[in-house]
Amino acid sequence: MEQTWSFIRSYPWLLAAYVAFGLFTMIGLTSIRAVKGRLRYETWYHLHLYAYLAAALAFAHQITAGADLTGPAGWFWIALYGTALATAVWGRLLRPLRLTLRHGFRVGRVVQEAPGVSSIHIVGRRLRGLNARPGQFFRFRFLTGGGWWQAHPFSLSAAPSADGLRVTVKALGDHTRDLQTLPAGTRVIMEGPYGDFTAGSRVNDKVVLVAAGIGITPIRALLEDLPPGEARAVVIYRARTEHEIVFARELEELAYTRGARLVYLLGDDRDPHAREALTPRGLRGLVPDITDRDAFVCGPPGLVRHLRGVLGTLGVRNVHLDPFEL
Ligand SMILES: Cc1cc2nc3c(=O)[nH]c(=O)nc-3n(C[C@H](O)[C@H](O)[C@H](O)COP(=O)(O)OP(=O)(O)OC[C@H]3O[C@@H](n4cnc5c(N)ncnc54)[C@H](O)[C@@H]3O)c2cc1C
Repeated sequence: MEQTWSFIRSYPWLLAAYVAFGLFTMIGLTSIRAVKGRLRYETWYHLHLYAYLAAALAFAHQITAGADLTGPAGWFWIALYGTALATAVWGRLLRPLRLTLRHGFRVGRVVQEAPGVSSIHIVGRRLRGLNARPGQFFRFRFLTGGGWWQAHPFSLSAAPSADGLRVTVKALGDHTRDLQTLPAGTRVIMEGPYGDFTAGSRVNDKVVLVAAGIGITPIRALLEDLPPGEARAVVIYRARTEHEIVFARELEELAYTRGARLVYLLGDDRDPHAREALTPRGLRGLVPDITDRDAFVCGPPGLVRHLRGVLGTLGVRNVHLDPFEL
């Protein structure tokens, strides 16, 4: 302990570096799945913002103490830090601001799709310039009294058009509940598009699309993006009850025009038929040529992990996962 204090007094910026080490340790520990699962998302998110402070506090000590980072090596290190900072400022601040000013996003209307599930139609200028693909997601900040400070990810639930985007939100917590009654005209700040859960990333022409619950949103958009063809897609939609099904009419129309087969798997988690259907035997029964297909899976993280194992057992090589978890 005495030696630690002596180091802190003798070396420049060492106390700041110790604090940075403590913060990085805390960030590492709270990233362990078991720990993260016990924290509220907002708590986890705000703890992770301390990574910026930790990086700043660690910096001065690295270049003022020791001989490793002197001369060209020191300048190279500073340039790396500068690049990381510029990337963060661009990605987190300037790009969303530029997108917002350029496209002027606003809520056009909110339409209820099922109990506790609503589609938010977002309008704006020159939306083709976003280059968004069906299956991708954005982080949305809706500028309402209580919601402006939080950014939440939502996937496009329809192919984007020149003047409109659609996301569909299930009320699972306080924020998503508030979104069900967003007033038209609310301004929106968006970050994205993100992700490669898109038709363009498939290797085979034929696909199997598996959605559970509100995981149907990117699957619905992906189906729309597939070229019309003969039985290229099988869509498996897992929901607890018929009332939970979202987009039934749209899915049936898309399945018809795309030559796709649509399978609903209804029943709660204890239902033996629904459970059996998502085992290796059940899936092979539903889609006998499954190994010749790309598989796209979206839903709650637990179910996506389960299906990753099942698809691995079946030998499906091209698996694309969207577990609604960052
Ligand atoms: C890539 C991606 C795409 C998604 N697409 C959709 C979609 O199309 N439709 C839909 O209804 N839901 C979607 N979700 C889930 C949606 O983001 C969460 O349900 C929502 O953020 C919950 O916020 P809340 O405050 O209402 O609920 P809470 O009760 O605070 O949280 C419910 C769950 O959402 C997680 N969560 C909370 N806030 C965030 C956040 N800011 N960022 C990431 N996760 C968070 C929590 O860890 C928790 O597991 C998506 C999630 C991800 C990661």
